[in-house]
Amino acid sequence: MVKICCLGAGYVGGPTMAVIALKCPKIEVVVVDISTARISAWNSDQLPIYEPGLDEVVKECRGRNLFFSTDLEKHISEADIIFVSVNTPTKTCGLGAGKAADLTYWESAARMIADVSKSDKIVVEKSTVPVKTAEAIEKILTHNSKGINYQILSNPEFLAEGTAIQDLFNPDRVLIGGRETPEGRNAVQALKQVYANWVPEDRILTTNLWSAELSKLAANAFLAQRISSVNAISALCEATGADVAEVAYAVGKDTRIGPKFLNASVGFGGSCFQKDILNLVYICDCNGLPEVSEYWKQVVKINDYQKSRFVNRVVSSMFNTVAGKKIAVLGFAFKKDTGDTRETPAIDVCKGLLGDKAKVSIYDPQVTEDQIGRDLAMNKFDWDHPIHLQPMSPTAANKQVTVTWDAYEATKEAHGVCILTEWDEFKKLDYKKIYDGMQKPAFVFDGRNVVDAGKLREIGFIVYSIGKPLDQ
Ligand code: NAD
Repeated sequence: MVKICCLGAGYVGGPTMAVIALKCPKIEVVVVDISTARISAWNSDQLPIYEPGLDEVVKECRGRNLFFSTDLEKHISEADIIFVSVNTPTKTCGLGAGKAADLTYWESAARMIADVSKSDKIVVEKSTVPVKTAEAIEKILTHNSKGINYQILSNPEFLAEGTAIQDLFNPDRVLIGGRETPEGRNAVQALKQVYANWVPEDRILTTNLWSAELSKLAANAFLAQRISSVNAISALCEATGADVAEVAYAVGKDTRIGPKFLNASVGFGGSCFQKDILNLVYICDCNGLPEVSEYWKQVVKINDYQKSRFVNRVVSSMFNTVAGKKIAVLGFAFKKDTGDTRETPAIDVCKGLLGDKAKVSIYDPQVTEDQIGRDLAMNKFDWDHPIHLQPMSPTAANKQVTVTWDAYEATKEAHGVCILTEWDEFKKLDYKKIYDGMQKPAFVFDGRNVVDAGKLREIGFIVYSIGKPLDQ
């Protein structure tokens, strides 16, 4: 029986390994993590991440050929194929701070593999890493190889949170990069055989190591660039009376462009887009390509601009101040169908509103009060009016932020509503009931273009939708 071990039981390691276990019943898959809390959650009925369809997959395989453990040494040493799916955040200090990938977790994973391995291993980069990381990993592994043969493969993950299981069942492509040596080609074949259990052969692409590593950064940069492009156009639409939905539809009808990923919004979020573009920028800088670096920087700048533009619109529409006014925030996750709030635009929007002394009442169906408290108190805050929030308590008097478990509660007596995540339930709310419970005039600022602005205007709301003609 082939044995797989995956280091990192996060948003990628957990679902990816669960699907491999489901589709390959003859392979034993063990997911290990240094976080005992995460592993306990994976072994419980309350999985550590929310992802449609994940519960069912885990329930079917857990205990059969899928296991979650904190015993890293045992499972690394027993595995034939080791996936490394640890976090690779942006460095916060030192050389490349604010741009370069922090490979601390990767390095410690590689050192542990080198320390405990007693047999040949295929080591698979599942995390998103800078191009040429495999070279560094090879150095760590071979420096202490004890005669063991290590083959490093790059197999970046293209799943999107919220649709991870669907994406893993039916990927557009699986990319495997390896060394162009006989051992490298054998390793690529071994990993190909795993995916061939359910992925059609023509969707399994093999490349050299550096192409695979760079393709992941490039793919995320292209996706984020599309969002920044349509968001840049949305600002022009508002200035001219064009409707961004009509423009995006017309543009997307060109088969060379295509219709996907052209929704204007308050901005992209998530743990990957910004970090991966910044990493690309850093790599360009390191390779003496300042013009290319400048080009990609603009994608992040437009995203920041879109978030601050949204906050400015809220404040200016509400008579140039939101001080003391209650603003309901519907949606805090960076997108629908996930509880993930990493780099969510909601953090910057809430901080912008709080900076203008608004009282913010937040509802998200999957994000906990603790999470929101951590995000608002700890994330870097670089808007015009910095404030320092104390950790929140639901019972605290005079609180500037409250978290509710219901959209109606969040909007009660509010002056304005900001929709920041495109949860389906926000389309179906009883907006008449919401309107009746709000202060007048009642404003809706739709950062995801999910509501029918016409219907809301008929009720009496003043509505702002991204990139749409404004209320007269
Ligand atoms: P995550 O933070 O959810 O999970 C990473 C896990 O690795 C954590 O549980 C952490 O405790 C664990 N870990 C850290 N060091 C370890 C070690 N030495 N041994 C064992 N476990 C260790 O991160 P994620 O969202 O799963 O992302 C993982 C990687 O995949 C990142 O490089 C990310 O850029 C990439 N990626 C993420 C997504 C996404 O949608 N989240 C999609 C594609 C690629």
